Order: sequence, then structure tokens, then C-alpha cells
Amino acid sequence: MNEKTMQKVTYGLYVLTTKEGEKINGCIINTMTQHTTTPNIISITVNKQNYTEELIKKSGEFNVSIIDETAKFDLFKRFGFQSGRDVDKFADFDESEYKILENNIPIILKGVNSYVSAEVIESMDMGTHTLFIAKVTDMDIINDNNSASYAYYHANIKPKKEEVKSKGKVWVCKICGYVYDDEKEAVPFEELPDDWVCPLCKHPKSDFELQE
Ligand code: FE
Repeated sequence: MNEKTMQKVTYGLYVLTTKEGEKINGCIINTMTQHTTTPNIISITVNKQNYTEELIKKSGEFNVSIIDETAKFDLFKRFGFQSGRDVDKFADFDESEYKILENNIPIILKGVNSYVSAEVIESMDMGTHTLFIAKVTDMDIINDNNSASYAYYHANIKPKKEEVKSKGKVWVCKICGYVYDDEKEAVPFEELPDDWVCPLCKHPKSDFELQE
């Protein structure tokens, strides 16, 4: 079985936002699919570690902002590489960068080309993730920029790999480009515990590769 096969599947990138009580939060997902047009039914899959997943379970409502090719890495850092349990992702977010819709949930305005609002009609426990099936209640196009694919993010938005000169081994996170330089760290990368995660994007140790 070739483990890299799933990399041939194309994915888009989205900022998923919701509101529960006074709590507004959002995260990055790469799984939104339209299943039927009439009625307009979509699904999203959200990691249970994301605070947004917990909020959607309670609120039953969300917006999806469709990320386009003009998006900056900062958007991914804000919504993807920190948790709404620790920080308010909208607290220092410039007001020109988002807008609150009629459902009281924000959408992102910069680096996205459109949005969809939806109400959950069913959810399914997928183990690590929850699958939400939802009915679209509103949607609109913001501009004609090309939607960003996950492959486009890796090739063009994520910071380029910089050659790090070190006497030790250098490990680079494939997701966000974070560098772990054995020479500068107290613990060599290979001796870190299996549940260690990237300090920036929180992806697992297995997403790091050795700089050749
Ligand atoms: Fe990372």
C-alpha cells in the first residue's frame, strides 16, 4: 500500500467560523464538500481538538470562508496555528479583515473569494474528527480570485524552506516550515516523545522531515 496515495486527492482550504453565546472562533479546514444542489447540502470535517468543533456542536451553525490564492501565511497562523481555547483569534484582528453576517458569525474578507453559511442537520463521530452535514442558508462571491488548493498552499503560501547551517541535524515541519535545529535544542529531535507536536502548527512529529 502506498501511503502517499492520498496526496493525489485535491483539497481546498477554508476558514471555518462559528459563534456560541459570546464566544466567536474559527479554524482552518481542508474538508468542505457540496453533496447535493437541491437541497444545497454540504459537509465539513473538523478535528475534535479544535475549539471550533466544540462550539459548532453547541451552536449548530457555521460560516465557511473559501481561501483564495492571494491569502497570506498570517491568515493560516491566526486561524490554524493557535487554539481558541488559549487566545481570542478575533481580539487583535483588524476590523477591515472580517465581517459579521446576519447569523452573527464572522466571515473573513481578505484572502478569501466567497463564503457559505450553513446549519447543521446531522453530525457523525469519526473518532479524531466530527463530520457535520449541513444545509446552506446563505452564500455569496466576494471576488474572482482562484480558490487556493492545499497543494497551492504548500507550494506558494507556506514560507519557503531556508537552508539552515548547523553542526547538528535540522528538522523542518512540512506543514508550516518550523525549524528544529538539534544544535540549538536541549533534546535532539529524534529523542522527543512521540506525542510532541510542532510548536507553531501543532502537527505531529511525523510531519517533520530531515533537512538533507
Ligand atoms: Fe508546523
